[in-house]
Amino acid sequence: MHSFRYHNDRLACEDVDLAAIADAVGTPAYVYSAGTIRENFRRLDRALAGLDHQICYAIKANSNLAILNLLAAEGAGFDIVSGGELFRVLRGGGSADHCTFAGVGKTRAEIEQGLREGVHCFNVESEAELAFIDEVAGALGVTAPVAIRVNPDVDAGTHKYISTGKSQNKFGIGIDRVESLYREAAARRHLRIRGVQTHIGSQILDPAPFAEAIGKLIPIVEALKARYAIEFFSIGGGIGIVYDPALESGSPAWWSASDHPHRITPEAYAEAVVPLLRPLELKILLEPGRFLVGNAGALLASVLYVKKTPAKTFTIVDAAMNDLIRPALYDGYHEIHPLERASVREPVAMDVVGPVCESGDFFAQDRVLSALEAGERVALLSAGAYGFVMSSTYNSRPLLPEVLVNGENWSVIRKRQTYDDLIRGEIVP
Ligand SMILES: *Cc1c(COP(=O)(O)O)cnc(C)c1O
Repeated sequence: MHSFRYHNDRLACEDVDLAAIADAVGTPAYVYSAGTIRENFRRLDRALAGLDHQICYAIKANSNLAILNLLAAEGAGFDIVSGGELFRVLRGGGSADHCTFAGVGKTRAEIEQGLREGVHCFNVESEAELAFIDEVAGALGVTAPVAIRVNPDVDAGTHKYISTGKSQNKFGIGIDRVESLYREAAARRHLRIRGVQTHIGSQILDPAPFAEAIGKLIPIVEALKARYAIEFFSIGGGIGIVYDPALESGSPAWWSASDHPHRITPEAYAEAVVPLLRPLELKILLEPGRFLVGNAGALLASVLYVKKTPAKTFTIVDAAMNDLIRPALYDGYHEIHPLERASVREPVAMDVVGPVCESGDFFAQDRVLSALEAGERVALLSAGAYGFVMSSTYNSRPLLPEVLVNGENWSVIRKRQTYDDLIRGEIVP
């Protein structure tokens, strides 16, 4: 479900005309739908009603304070990967005791911060980190709550965009080492074993790998519960979203309806995992990022020029790879639609590109779209996750504004950077 629809040939987010937002804040700009985020959260929450569960939003997907505030009000906890993210959660109205602190490289300062604020748990990724957290907690005279991240060695999917399985060795502890590491954790004086965690990758469109990973871990989780009275099992994030409706008609070779009869939905996900998890009688944590916010956002841009060469038509827009890096980084796909649907134009194969001096600066290549003209504005859909948060000021382009739509109202939730913001902190000696 998402809330970007045409009303009388004008693209709206919920009940707000996107052209009106573009007129007011300029382009490029990010726009998010509060209603879509809420609906995504509630739908997943409902689907898991059969479990004692807590959704911990992985804030790295989109960490604007207004989004955190909205999800905190829905009852979300938060999955954080840095001290900066913990700071954001607290400023956004979330509480530390609903935060799980993940990441393979926590620093002393971050561990101290997490202990001081009282995070729910540190998700530990290595023997060295376990020992270090024990030491830092000991130095502060406190006990650190920990869970160990287990790498279930499951291929999360075959598509190259989503198969983090190959590089997963960096993440978590192999199944064969789990028992000894928990024994070590139990022996350390400044640690309290609180749970167990796993996460198999991102943008996973098939429930099967989730079920496979959980199935592999069930005996271990049962043993940990019996031995250490763990309170929770976190099954991670990774629920994918549909970026390209063509995927549903089976056009790319890797996707076909028969391979994936259950294109992932909260209900299909729950159907696959709940029956496995319920008998554990443990609290189940989930860490979705992309699923909650991905399809709730769009990047608005204006067409600057249409450049025709013998080989191609380039539609040059004012947004660029520094604003939304997914296409350049992993061939991410974003639907592109005009804000105002003019009288039907010839479809043309075009590259939609930005002004940055890199050949990787594109949003679409050889895509057939209704011809666009200079001055027209477009929306790049499904830009709510891993969009703004991955942006930079490369080419000295100020960071974009972010807007939150709620029904027929909208608010700027981040101002556009000024040139002064761009050089803040720089010093000529
Ligand atoms: C990135 C990450 C998530 C969220 O992933 P999504 O694909 O956005 O749901 C959850 N847990 C961990 C440990 C992560 O690294």
